[in-house]
Amino acid sequence: MERMEEIRERLSARRLKAFLVSDLKNIRYLTGFRGSSALLLVTGGDAFFFTDFRYREQARREVKGCEIVVPAGALLRHVRKTLKGLGIRSVGFEFSAPYGLYHGLKGDFALRAVRGMVEDLRVRKGREELRLIRKAVRRAEEAFSEIRPGIRAGVTERAVALTLEESLRRKGCSRIPFDIIVASGENAALPHASPSDKRLGPGDLVVIDWGGEADGYFSDMTRTLLVRGGADTERKVEMYNTVLKANRSAIRTAGAGVRAADVDRAARDLIGRAGYGDFFGHGTGHGVGLDIHESPRISLISKDILGEGMVFTIEPGVYIPGKGGVRIEDMVHIGEKGPRLLTRLPKRLDIV
Ligand code: ZN
Ligand code: ZN
Repeated sequence: MERMEEIRERLSARRLKAFLVSDLKNIRYLTGFRGSSALLLVTGGDAFFFTDFRYREQARREVKGCEIVVPAGALLRHVRKTLKGLGIRSVGFEFSAPYGLYHGLKGDFALRAVRGMVEDLRVRKGREELRLIRKAVRRAEEAFSEIRPGIRAGVTERAVALTLEESLRRKGCSRIPFDIIVASGENAALPHASPSDKRLGPGDLVVIDWGGEADGYFSDMTRTLLVRGGADTERKVEMYNTVLKANRSAIRTAGAGVRAADVDRAARDLIGRAGYGDFFGHGTGHGVGLDIHESPRISLISKDILGEGMVFTIEPGVYIPGKGGVRIEDMVHIGEKGPRLLTRLPKRLDIV
C-alpha cells in the first residue's frame, strides 16, 4: 500500500481528522522531500506540504502526492489556517514534535500526541530502501578496507578518523551519519569516545565505529583491532573472542517473530558467563535507516518483536575502565528467507 494511504488508515483507526508531521525524516519517507524545512499535514483526503521559499523549486521536483504550499510567513501559521479552512478540530502530532509546535496550535485545536505513526512503517524496509542501505554498507566497507593498511602503531586516532571520513566521502557518501569513533587503549573503554591526538601504541585495542550513507540511508558498523606488542595479549584476545561469540550468538538468535529482548539476552548471557557482565552497559543493537538510531531497539527492556523487512545492528561490547574495550558491530536484515548479514568485513581479530 502507498505510504500516505497507510497513514490515513492509521488516522481513521485513531479517530483523528488530521496528522501533522514535523520530523524531517518522516516527511522525507512520506513525500520524498530531502530539504531541511517543512511541515506535512495529512488529512483523510488530502495532504498539504508546507515549506519556505528556499525550497520552492526543490519541493516541486521531489514532493509527490501533496499540495505544495509555500507561504510568505511562518509555516505553522499556515497550517492553522489550512486546518481552520477545512473545519478540522482534532489533530494528531508527533510525539517527537518541538514544544513550539504544540504551543502554536493548542489554543484552537484538540491535540493528541501520537507515538510511532510513521516510524512503525519505517521499521520494515522496502526493496528500494534495502538497496540503498546495502549501498551505504558497501561504501563503508570499501572505505575502511582502503584505509586499513594505514592503521598501525604511531598514527593518531584523529588521523585514522580523518582518513576514514575522507575515504567515505570519496566513495560517494554525501553525509557522514555520525562522528567516527576511533578509540585506542584506555580510550576504548569509553563506548562513545571522540578521536583524540593519542597515538596507537603497542598492545592497544582500537575500536573503530563508522557508517556510510547512500541517498539518505545509513549504515553503521564497528571493528576492533589489536596493535601488536604490549602486555596481557592473551587476556585481550580472550576478551575479543568473548565479544565475537556474543555477536554471533545474537545474530543466530535474531529472526522474524523473535523478541528483540531475547536477542539482547543471547549476547548478554554469553558475556556474563565469561565474567564480563558488569562491563557491557549498553543495548545490543538498534534499527538503522533514514536515522542512524531507529526502531527496533535490541535491548533487555525492548518490547519490539522482530519482523520481516527490519534492518538493525548487533553490537555487543566489553569496556573495562583503565584497560580498554572491544565492540563488534554488524548489520542484519530479516528477509523472506530469514536473517542475513549485510556487513561482510571479516571478524577474526585483526592484529596490526
Ligand atoms: Zn556504530
Ligand atoms: Zn550502532
